[in-house]
Amino acid sequence: MAKFIETNLWKDTCQNAQSYPKLDQDIDVDFAIIGGGFTGLSAALRLCENNQSVAVLEAQDIGYGGSGRNVGLVNAGLWLKPNEITDKIGQKYGERLIHFLSEAPNKVFENIEKYQIPCEAKHIGTLHCAEDDKGCDDLLQRQEQWAKYGVNLNLLDHDQTSTLLGTKAYRAALHDLRAGTIQPLSYACGLALNAAKLGAHIFCQSPVQSVLRDDGKWTLRTAQGAVRAKNIISATGTYNQNEYDNQGPDTTSLYYFQMATQPLKEDLLKSILPQKHSMWDAKQVLTSFRLNDEGRLIIGSIGNLDNITYTAHKSWAYRKMAEVYPQLKGETFDHEWYGRIGLTNDNIPRIAAPHPNWLTMWGYNGRGIAPGTAFGRLLADIHLGRRNESLPLEFSEIKTEQFIALQSFGIDLGASLYHSATARF
Ligand SMILES: Cc1cc2nc3c(=O)[nH]c(=O)nc-3n(C[C@H](O)[C@H](O)[C@H](O)COP(=O)(O)OP(=O)(O)OC[C@H]3O[C@@H](n4cnc5c(N)ncnc54)[C@H](O)[C@@H]3O)c2cc1C
Repeated sequence: MAKFIETNLWKDTCQNAQSYPKLDQDIDVDFAIIGGGFTGLSAALRLCENNQSVAVLEAQDIGYGGSGRNVGLVNAGLWLKPNEITDKIGQKYGERLIHFLSEAPNKVFENIEKYQIPCEAKHIGTLHCAEDDKGCDDLLQRQEQWAKYGVNLNLLDHDQTSTLLGTKAYRAALHDLRAGTIQPLSYACGLALNAAKLGAHIFCQSPVQSVLRDDGKWTLRTAQGAVRAKNIISATGTYNQNEYDNQGPDTTSLYYFQMATQPLKEDLLKSILPQKHSMWDAKQVLTSFRLNDEGRLIIGSIGNLDNITYTAHKSWAYRKMAEVYPQLKGETFDHEWYGRIGLTNDNIPRIAAPHPNWLTMWGYNGRGIAPGTAFGRLLADIHLGRRNESLPLEFSEIKTEQFIALQSFGIDLGASLYHSATARF
């Protein structure tokens, strides 16, 4: 039976990777940050910009978690529609969150511009596509609901959609010009590199094992060293290796995989996503397509590759690619990887202050590039005393959801059955 061996395209094409040391000494800083993903690194950069001394502790390497595995869609808002957000958290916080996350892609592209981060950035919008009536209704509702917040999304008809996608497979698309696409690991590594240039101490292969408080300061211990800091920001997301207390984020795991072709020939590239837009569809077991700068087509969908359903997911990916882009029949994938997305039970992210001078954030529900960047910055600003009012979210309790493992298994099983069925018929 074919076995999955991870070959993450983002690692192989990362432009800003640096090797950072393991923590093997004791240091004193203003801020200790746990987790080297978008949230932790964005907070680190913001704090360094404000002349604070910062240490980032990452258990593995920069971008090891969702930040180095995702699709690279820098989208605005959440997966939820605006009305669903206000229904869930009320008008006051709902409206603030909607405005905050509407602006969030700009924060990503501002960082890229300001620090000249090479990360294949394309600020040309993304395409949310519909294949059927249900999908078209969903797009229309999104367009109408965003309009109430002053945001004009372009609802493209079949011809316009087909022109931008290079396929007639989708009936309509919502073109969101706030959004865009990046090479996500290059962006994460670019945040780290620029935080380091501004003085941040970055340590990799340094999982935090214990955190203790005495004399108004925190001591974070790793296997070979310690960071003493007045303040903590923890941003370990779904890749949480939480050995320092028994509280974990209340998230269910949803697995998402991607497979990339070899670089396509020029004549093929003229007919596939010809203006380099990225897309995803409005199906429950969704599909995404994008290109990278080498001209590889990357297809993604829900599923965990590291189990017996690997072959079903891969056969489905070949079949789906050939269905949407028949000219690619016979192309093979030479990169394949997957990651874990953390879903909260109401699909709303969480911010919490679990202990004195300690802030944390998690639960982006599969949309964390722009939110991670914006919320990381916000956590830094709250600590700096700049944002105590008008927060876009209420502080949450940290609690562990029941039946998390069972829910994760159910989602994965559903996606596997869907891919197995559609691979055969
Ligand atoms: C396959 C996939 C596709 C996605 N696609 C998109 C997309 O297209 N667009 C989008 O906006 N979002 C997408 N997302 C979501 C997005 O990637 C995440 O929401 C985002 O990366 C979360 O960033 P983070 O910094 O909060 O956490 P992470 O990036 O997960 O970083 C957490 C880090 O903490 C470290 N850590 C854990 N425990 C410890 C410890 N004890 N000590 C030190 N370090 C520790 C981990 O090693 C990890 O590196 C996707 C996610 C996945 C998995």
